[in-house]
Amino acid sequence: MIEPLYGPRDASGVWVHLEHEDNGLDTVSKEILGRARLLADERGQEVTAVLMGSGAGQLAAEAVSFGADAVLVADDPLLAPYTTAPHSKVIAGLVAERKPDILLLAATPNGRDLAGRLAVRLRTGLTADCTDLRINQSTGLLVGEVTGFGQGILATIECPEHRPQMATVRPGVFPRPEPDPSRAGKIEKMTVHLSETDRPVRVLRRSLKRGVDITQAERLVVAGRGVSGDLALVKRLARLLKAEIGGTRVAADAGWVSHERMVGQTGSVTHPKLAVVCGVSGAFQFTVGIQDAGTVIAINSDKDAPIFDVADFCIVDDVFQILPRLIEALEKQKDGRSE
Ligand SMILES: Cc1cc2nc3c(=O)[nH]c(=O)nc-3n(C[C@H](O)[C@H](O)[C@H](O)COP(=O)(O)OP(=O)(O)OC[C@H]3O[C@@H](n4cnc5c(N)ncnc54)[C@H](O)[C@@H]3O)c2cc1C
Repeated sequence: MIEPLYGPRDASGVWVHLEHEDNGLDTVSKEILGRARLLADERGQEVTAVLMGSGAGQLAAEAVSFGADAVLVADDPLLAPYTTAPHSKVIAGLVAERKPDILLLAATPNGRDLAGRLAVRLRTGLTADCTDLRINQSTGLLVGEVTGFGQGILATIECPEHRPQMATVRPGVFPRPEPDPSRAGKIEKMTVHLSETDRPVRVLRRSLKRGVDITQAERLVVAGRGVSGDLALVKRLARLLKAEIGGTRVAADAGWVSHERMVGQTGSVTHPKLAVVCGVSGAFQFTVGIQDAGTVIAINSDKDAPIFDVADFCIVDDVFQILPRLIEALEKQKDGRSE
């Protein structure tokens, strides 16, 4: 067994690695801060946020307002934009010195990259892509819930010996807490020891594409294989409902919707008030992405499709027969011509 860097007896506190862009904390970091606050309160511990970047200190107060008791600010030009080596060096140094019990990161491209590197460096485990985080009431350990590993398996993972207990969480999994500008917190500026040799990779050019974020959608119309690539009706319904369009993996892989619109385990976990799910079988890897939806309306021609097990309203019929009728009814309602 690999020797831990430090063990449970030396560890204390819940840490959150924060991501930020354009002078504001990323939504996912706020969501994780909210859950960290609950976990820390259950354990009687503090929440510490780690802010790294160039000029990142200005976001410390925002981190406090979203639940941090303390913010460690590592401010250095070599920390912007994100690259793996300097970020992992700085945060690994802080962890080794201060020994947090729990370290949470976002399951974003940068967060995933950093978490993997850190777990190896800190000789600890990493529960990646959690769909829930809670405290085991009998052991006090962090429990990370992860879907996957084949059909229908929900794994709960603990890290009993090594510290910190690390986990990544995807955007949209936890609700975003309301900021409380009256909260007080301790802001500490860290001394950063970095030189050019610590940054072997240079970012020469960045191209940003502002895409859609279906995790924040209030309404979703989701297309599955059953729509056979014909999204005209799905788009009309989405327009009428002021909904975003989502898709299954089949729909995304076929190019009917962009991958950022994919719902599910490897797509996005969404929380719409209403989801209209069209021609989707209801594989577990998909339904995990709508399990927190308020109302699910499923249309499927197969009465035995598993999607009906999670739907509130089940329409057993051809999607191309049902969608025009739904659209017509909504258009009439919009025109004040209700039947
Ligand atoms: C590790 C892993 C991760 C995955 N992650 C995801 C993920 O994040 N998201 C995801 O979606 N999938 C994911 N998948 C794939 C998932 O297992 C399913 O294969 C996928 O969700 C099926 O998509 P579908 O429902 O569109 O297609 P199908 O399973 O083929 O279902 C199509 C459905 O449409 C119905 N249908 C056909 N024609 C009509 C019609 N005219 N009218 C009405 N109904 C009709 C059929 O009865 C059928 O139930 C993952 C798989 C793995 C192994």
